[in-house]
Amino acid sequence: MTSLPTPRPGAKKLGLVIDLDTCVGCHACAVNCKEWNNGGYPAPLPDYDPHGAKPDGVWFNRIHTYEAGEGAAGRTVHFPRSCLHCDEPACVTVCPTGASYKRAEDGIVLVNADLCIGCKLCSWACPYGAREFDEDAGVMKKCTLCIDRIYNETIPEAQRVPACVATCPAHARHFGDLGDPESAVSELVRNRGGYDLMPEMGYRPVNKYLPPRKNTCRAPALAEPATNGVKENGNVGDRLLAWLDRALSS
Ligand code: SF4
Ligand code: SF4
Repeated sequence: MTSLPTPRPGAKKLGLVIDLDTCVGCHACAVNCKEWNNGGYPAPLPDYDPHGAKPDGVWFNRIHTYEAGEGAAGRTVHFPRSCLHCDEPACVTVCPTGASYKRAEDGIVLVNADLCIGCKLCSWACPYGAREFDEDAGVMKKCTLCIDRIYNETIPEAQRVPACVATCPAHARHFGDLGDPESAVSELVRNRGGYDLMPEMGYRPVNKYLPPRKNTCRAPALAEPATNGVKENGNVGDRLLAWLDRALSS
């Protein structure tokens, strides 16, 4: 079994804050994640039967879309899911070889492919379904928070964020140090009521979710069709005139 690093006061806890209010479910984050990581540190990320009846593959970030609530209170929620880089990750402690580990310096949870024996214990231990097994290589893979990007001094500083954050067109993804109460991401969590996913599991995820805001927008009632004074529900002649009026006006 694998040990976790001893917690240090003030240690960095890098993670994501995901805004369920602004996520539009476009999958751009998932695609850019796959694109970056397919050529980066955990590469390759294989696809299985990509053009067949049951396409599958290794995706570190997946978006689930569902309906919540009923009637006027109902809404569509897009829910991006990836590793939450938990503070108490049983995916690490169950690992029999030390392949899964949590970094002391920034809290990122990683897999050392050279030590992984593909037993899948970690994926059983993760309650968030965040582990991805590479059938071709026979090893477990997962979100690395784009470790080969966020510390990469060969790219402009503004781009040193995870690929999912860099690409999100709705700015629904934020990256930063959640161990620092003064950081922009910590402030966002405080101001918007950010929460842990399934806190009852005791994994203490670092990533946070911002809840959808109350929906105050309602579509206006449909206006009556313009008939220029011609009666729509009159006799056949009136209805014909109404049709002609619309056709000539369009
Ligand atoms: Fe481990 Fe799952 Fe937590 Fe990621 S989300 S650290 S894989 S338990
Ligand atoms: Fe550790 Fe690999 Fe087994 Fe996961 S599949 S528990 S990383 S050896």
